[in-house]
Amino acid sequence: MSTDCLFCRIVERSVPATVVHETDTVLAFRDIDPQAETHVLVIPKEHHPDAAAMAVADPQLAGEVLAVAGEVAKIDGVDASGYRLVFNTGADANQTVFHAHCHVLGGRNLTWPPG
Ligand code: 5GP
Ligand code: ZN
Repeated sequence: MSTDCLFCRIVERSVPATVVHETDTVLAFRDIDPQAETHVLVIPKEHHPDAAAMAVADPQLAGEVLAVAGEVAKIDGVDASGYRLVFNTGADANQTVFHAHCHVLGGRNLTWPPG
């Protein structure tokens, strides 16, 4: 737990969020500034600064984050129509919260390549 990390605060419920799904190790909640009809953030409850660091430190946890992302797509009914998983990492990717998170985006046609 990092006391100055926004997503750690969401995990401990001191910052409110609209939770979509939860396991012992992973939390999924709606993005505060949705960029698509479905825009959910899937995070490990344990603090890791980015996805690659999480995968090195705890590969099983990284797999659990991906599995929950798939569950979220089913919950929102976009599993059949398609969705995008994004892990912004570092400055050029505009990562703004340095607690690993997977964006689940769906519910509209997503252009490729992204801007
Ligand atoms: P990043 O740019 O780091 O990949 O994504 C961070 C995401 O966190 C952004 O999409 C942003 O809208 C979202 N976000 C920032 N602050 C909050 C908050 O307080 N609550 C929720 N639910 N999402 C947030
Ligand atoms: Zn954190």
